[in-house]
Amino acid sequence: MADKLKTIVFKEVDHLEVEEFDVPEPGSDQILVRVEACAICTWEQRAYKGINKVEYPFIGGHELCGHIEAMGANVDSRTWHIGDRVVCGAQFACDNCTQCKSGDENACQHFDHSKQLPGLPYHGMGGLSSHYLVNPANCFKVGDTPVEEAALTEPLSCVLHSVESADIHFGDVVLVIGCGIMGQLHAMLAAKRGAMVIVSDTNEERGQMAVGLGAKIAINPAKVNLVETIGEITNGEMCNVVFDTTPIAALVQDAIDCLGSQGKVVLYSSFHPDVPIPFSPNLVHKRNLQFIGTANSSQRDFVRATRLISEGVVSLKPFVSEVYPVDQAQAAFDSACMGDKFRVVVTF
Ligand SMILES: [Zn+2]
Ligand SMILES: [Zn+2]
Repeated sequence: MADKLKTIVFKEVDHLEVEEFDVPEPGSDQILVRVEACAICTWEQRAYKGINKVEYPFIGGHELCGHIEAMGANVDSRTWHIGDRVVCGAQFACDNCTQCKSGDENACQHFDHSKQLPGLPYHGMGGLSSHYLVNPANCFKVGDTPVEEAALTEPLSCVLHSVESADIHFGDVVLVIGCGIMGQLHAMLAAKRGAMVIVSDTNEERGQMAVGLGAKIAINPAKVNLVETIGEITNGEMCNVVFDTTPIAALVQDAIDCLGSQGKVVLYSSFHPDVPIPFSPNLVHKRNLQFIGTANSSQRDFVRATRLISEGVVSLKPFVSEVYPVDQAQAAFDSACMGDKFRVVVTF
């Protein structure tokens, strides 16, 4: 019996089904990836729960790893080989706008999560499927890193982009608000750039985990006043950089209040709900502050993220909380949506 393409389809809010289709043939310029693992990101959880509005049926999944199963005649065989372990970058940039043409496809003007990808029956990011057609531009080799860990290359690439946007220098004081997977990765990468990293989370176990990964101090803002504590730790100089990795708009005020002169606040997370916050324009002026927004990652970020992983500079193992086979997709989503895991990974 011929191999089938299995895919997890969101049919309506809170309802998914695993469906089977024929495996597509790669076009002459395409690579067919046999997906082995795909992580369930917060974005998919929100799409499944109806918080991120998508049109059903919808296929989620953008954190995936697998191997090359087939490739078209025009794919460069000097670089790509059947069996290569690869991760795939988001294929939702338009490739045509000024940002895309400048190598900043993370900031594409027409970024579209709901594009219909080739070879798949429905629209959506498509990675929660056993087979995935991709252009070589969006394919990245990842060595022999275990697939469940390598599936997390995409979030690492986004955090790498965020940390570089802040241009951290040796000795900078960096505060990371939130110790979910994104906060942990920020703490880890900022520490590797020579920063004195402080993390803040009401979950002390997670705060201590960040300390184990390179942070110096973990603060529990439910027990102490965050801004005052940062003042004490820094002798009033406050932070050079604050990363907000939570979706809670009210915490952005704390982030601003923790900045020192010439400080930068980086808004990494998306905000749900997107409640406007007041801020003092004069403070921004007087203290030479910078606001930086960051989302997604570029091909260049992917190349470097895969190297960090495959060379063992960064280990993503602590963030693979649970692994489910595709036939237990429902259980995987229910578990992921409990919000107490780093990443739940589905294997195909
Ligand atoms: Zn993601
Ligand atoms: Zn574009």
